[in-house]
Amino acid sequence: MCAFVFWEGGYQVRELENDPNFNAGRGSVLTSQGTVEMEACIMDGTTMKCGAVSGLSTVVNAISLARLVMEKTPHIYLAFDGAEAFAREQGVETVDPNHFVTPENIERLEQAKEANRVQIDFTQPAKGDIRKENAEANGGDSQIGTVGCVALDSHGNLASATSTGGLVNKMVGRIGDTPVIGAGTYANSYCAVSATGKGEAIIKATVAREVAALMEYKGLSLKEAAAYVIEEKVAKGNAGLVAVSANGEVTMPFNTTGMFRACATEDGHSEISIWN
Ligand code: ASP
Repeated sequence: MCAFVFWEGGYQVRELENDPNFNAGRGSVLTSQGTVEMEACIMDGTTMKCGAVSGLSTVVNAISLARLVMEKTPHIYLAFDGAEAFAREQGVETVDPNHFVTPENIERLEQAKEANRVQIDFTQPAKGDIRKENAEANGGDSQIGTVGCVALDSHGNLASATSTGGLVNKMVGRIGDTPVIGAGTYANSYCAVSATGKGEAIIKATVAREVAALMEYKGLSLKEAAAYVIEEKVAKGNAGLVAVSANGEVTMPFNTTGMFRACATEDGHSEISIWN
């Protein structure tokens, strides 16, 4: 997950989708049938325009298709066959579905099936691996690799974009929080938020919208609002988010073991972290 101040977030999500180390695009985790069903969402906080896609199996950059839904259709959300047909009509890059099935994700699916679990992107680390020590120290086992970016430009415009393969061993046809406006993705004039974690928990808590609502209706700062939602509204081990406000405040709280995250600003400040 990334937060950019004075940056172009949508293009960053494409880059992350192309990197097989993240749970989106090429690195998407697998359904219980060993297939890939990718989803993505983008929202412009100034116009409140948004676009979302689900159930993609051939589209190289789901986030680009979500953007086309936003820009070129009268709708917000396209899924499965209709979304794939729209991708072809728009001429976006598509490939054979096997392109997205990586050996790492076959292993993750095997682990999840063995444990009989539907889980956040996670490979059981070997003994002695720092990830295992961190997981134990934090009392949980989840790290999250969905990709998301929030951005604020020099005119004060906010935007949010999120892309994911979903949960390992999810049912075919399952839709998570990522493409649901107000759950995994949201932007308005107060803030832009992109969430990751267990989709069902994030949808129930309307995580992204809740952060914006606490700022608007309760006057909380971005940091206070996001901390409240992550600590009080979602059970431990289930969620994290990146967010930026209209005045450039950035926050990246999570209640999972770790969250891959980074932040960059125009004046040269940058930070990258995984653990607390
Ligand atoms: N939130 C995503 C989902 O539930 C998964 C993730 O963030 O890792 O589909």
